[in-house]
Amino acid sequence: MSKWQIPPDGGHMESASGIYYQNMTLKEINDRLETNDLIIIPIGSTENHGLGQNPGEDTFLVTRQAEQIAKATGCTVAQPIWYGSHPNHHLGMPHSIIIPEETFVAYLRAVMAGFWNAGFRKMILLNGHGQDYVIPTAMHQFGKKYQVPSIIINVNWWFVIPEHLRDKVHGGPFETPFVHGDECEASFSMALFPEFINSEYFESAKFEPLMPPGHINKSGSALPREEGPLPFWQQVGGSPLEVVSTPEGTVGDATLADPEKARGGVNAILDYLERLVNDIMEKYPAGVLPPIDQLSMRPKEDVEAVMKGPFEEGGRHIYTLAYPP
Ligand SMILES: [Zn+2]
Repeated sequence: MSKWQIPPDGGHMESASGIYYQNMTLKEINDRLETNDLIIIPIGSTENHGLGQNPGEDTFLVTRQAEQIAKATGCTVAQPIWYGSHPNHHLGMPHSIIIPEETFVAYLRAVMAGFWNAGFRKMILLNGHGQDYVIPTAMHQFGKKYQVPSIIINVNWWFVIPEHLRDKVHGGPFETPFVHGDECEASFSMALFPEFINSEYFESAKFEPLMPPGHINKSGSALPREEGPLPFWQQVGGSPLEVVSTPEGTVGDATLADPEKARGGVNAILDYLERLVNDIMEKYPAGVLPPIDQLSMRPKEDVEAVMKGPFEEGGRHIYTLAYPP
């Protein structure tokens, strides 16, 4: 028996359950920082997932995971980033709202700076969308720009659990390999937010890749490496434009979706996220970060001043080091 609720009974984005930062009073936030200063920032997308699935799917996949982790560990969740970056082959697909890379990276840097200045200096950027290659740029730019102690981790949930995303041929629970808005993604969605999914409208769609097999992996790089050593974002021109090849929005066969097929994967990703949060908080309890001199060659007095923050004697806000973030 797993301790995780699959599916959960509803979400917390509008509830006063002490999970979402934006829903808490400042008093509650200040108290939270005393016990747990780690925040999960869910990063999703607004994207066409086919007739039976909601465009917010990638976002709810990670908010519903983060909510259960916050309940289990006492950390906090930020309201999600709803619009994301997209690979080349998504261009022009109606209902996929594409934020240019530079804008998205700058926005993420600013969100990280804001939470750092608020005292949440341990952040997990929990990503639910195929923008794996963009988010790390924002984290490394934040690190280089500010050079202040922090722990910032990016988790793409599917990377953690490839064996649970595979088709039966590769030892997994699915008939078909994970692509997008398909059997696999719809199954995870039904396991986490069934109220936004309507299986009556599920469709099946096929496309012909433009590259010969054996090179480009499918979504989540879930296939064994020898079958696809290159993650999907390491090519342009190998995947046809979605709007042309799969106008359905489903890339695969959503009619095969079943939440039971995702149960093992949901349990596995939640087990991992819980361990990640607890391991970080055990090594670095609230208010504690890795030593300044291991992470920064900025003058120590500058780093100490921004770590105190603007309300303390001799303290300053983070933007005294650099603005815009
Ligand atoms: Zn998706």
